[in-house]
Amino acid sequence: MSNLILKIEELNKSYDIGKSKLHVLKGINLNISEGEFVSIMGSSGSGKSTLLNIIGILDEADTGIYELDGVPIKHLTESRAAEYRSKFLGFIFQSFNLINYKTAVENVALPLYYQGVGRKERSQKALEYLEKVGLGQWANHLPSEMSGGQKQRVAIARALITEPKLILADEPTGALDSQTTHDIMKLLQDINNEGKTIVVVTHEPDVAAQTKRNVVLKDGKIESDEFIKQIVL
Ligand code: ADP
Ligand code: MG
Repeated sequence: MSNLILKIEELNKSYDIGKSKLHVLKGINLNISEGEFVSIMGSSGSGKSTLLNIIGILDEADTGIYELDGVPIKHLTESRAAEYRSKFLGFIFQSFNLINYKTAVENVALPLYYQGVGRKERSQKALEYLEKVGLGQWANHLPSEMSGGQKQRVAIARALITEPKLILADEPTGALDSQTTHDIMKLLQDINNEGKTIVVVTHEPDVAAQTKRNVVLKDGKIESDEFIKQIVL
């Protein structure tokens, strides 16, 4: 039996909208093992980001079980949630979420600053991770000087630098053209092949086809969950 990184049972989540409730996740069951590369698909508004935000401890479900690497995640204080995010998780977003006045290497080093790692070790490691994503030469450039694909590589390096167990990516290629999407998915495939567990939310079937398992959300439920023949880039 491979190691379960993520265990979700009968998860429910509603939002209050005025006096009514919008039931977004209706009894989600999902187990993910170490080393998997999973896509979560579904049309806009199907609850993909809601589910990913719960997995990322950025939001909390109303009911159900969620365990991350064997740790039950429930009613955490904000500081405990931040500790678990920092320890277990790396995030990649559609809009990159880089800090505009910091250079590439400073952006990548930031999670280590929050972990209390010293300046020299931080920048050394950040440079290593920038090299890993093919941007060693761009260390001292600002995000405004980089293309979308390069910015997403910086964000990927930043997500990896703390060596998280699980990488969560919400529409990581949503702002990129098709060639750059291809390049970023190839990079994620390489990172997965090195053993990293990745969950990607996407509404693009082409992107989902480049992962190893496709979970489809519809009307708040998992409509299908299949291991697929990955298109290797
Ligand atoms: P997706 O990422 O699949 O597009 P979301 O998880 O963002 O879907 O949203 C699912 C549904 O929940 C949508 O109808 C959205 O409008 C609603 N929703 C998302 N976040 C909130 C919120 N904070 N408050 C109220 N409704 C929300
Ligand atoms: Mg979304």
